[in-house]
Amino acid sequence: MATGFFWDERCFWQSGGNYALTLPVGDFVQPLAAGGLPESPETKRRLKNLLDVSGLSRELHMTSAPAASREDLERVHPATYLEQFKAMSDAGGGELGLRTPFGKGGYEAAALSAGLAKEAVLAVLRGELENAYTLSRPPGHHCLPDWPNGFCLLASIAIAIEAAKAAGLADRVAVIDWDVHHGNGTEAIFLSRDDVLTISLHQDRNYPLDTGAFDVRGEGDGAGYNINIPLPPGAGHASYLDTMERIVLPALDRYRPDLIIVACGYDAAAFDPLSRMLATAETFREMTRQVMGAADTWCDGKLVLVHEGGYSEAYVPFCGHAVLEELSGSDISVPDPMAETLRIRQPDARFEAFVAEQIGELADFFAKPAKSG
Ligand code: ZN
Repeated sequence: MATGFFWDERCFWQSGGNYALTLPVGDFVQPLAAGGLPESPETKRRLKNLLDVSGLSRELHMTSAPAASREDLERVHPATYLEQFKAMSDAGGGELGLRTPFGKGGYEAAALSAGLAKEAVLAVLRGELENAYTLSRPPGHHCLPDWPNGFCLLASIAIAIEAAKAAGLADRVAVIDWDVHHGNGTEAIFLSRDDVLTISLHQDRNYPLDTGAFDVRGEGDGAGYNINIPLPPGAGHASYLDTMERIVLPALDRYRPDLIIVACGYDAAAFDPLSRMLATAETFREMTRQVMGAADTWCDGKLVLVHEGGYSEAYVPFCGHAVLEELSGSDISVPDPMAETLRIRQPDARFEAFVAEQIGELADFFAKPAKSG
């Protein structure tokens, strides 16, 4: 069976807002020559282009999908929000939440992005694909039911999960969010539920500033089913793999999911303008291998990676290619041109020991049951 690759050029055409990086262009903020927010189509399109150039795209099951339906969206978002978003999008665009500008057709692009995630999840659960990757845009993991933020307009992963549950295809879903920012939207949507385990690895106090604390473990029935792993700025390859090994994989072993979804951001990579971490393409390859192992153990390999953030136009394609090499088991290999540069710039042993100690403390904390209530 093939690895699915869900993408659609129309997702790359959504744009809006007059920003230079995350700064609104104004009296003293000059527009950038390359233009706009860091969440631009280029990082994604360049990953697709690299897959074409290497030949890997010819080994993947490349496909688009219909947009998520209104019924799909309403399982997560209130009708009032969807109506407001659609009306503004039809009228030429605007901005509803925080750093979420969109142009005319922004609503359709976001619904299509969610539709790609939904179809990828359904196809894997039905056994039509071995696993899948969605190059979807705009991203979704920050979006709350009624408040878009952090470039995210619709909660694509939550929409996909609810569609799978409505179709009776999944009971226990684990979401691993390794985007460098906290997956606050996914957390909020499933905070009081035990049928979705949400795990987020993120740079401590990056975005959002006020969410992502380790002691937010879920509420009511959801107590113990939310795991936040804040890592200090500067954490690199070894710390990420250590976190996966000591916290994420044991949590999956305890939960025994029947589907694993990864919110696959590449903004923990060393060149990202929106973070201060030192992950490399090899880090993402190894984390993919770790998650594939867990998926093989617990859910017959059922695994879907949904592209989220990652803002280095030059480097994201190499990270994504490494992930897709691993996911598909291809012999095609694109070397990371920055591998040696980043290898010699990893944290020193003293800092790694400091981070390892924090990871150990968190591992002990999460191994104990959470208090309900
Ligand atoms: Zn991010």
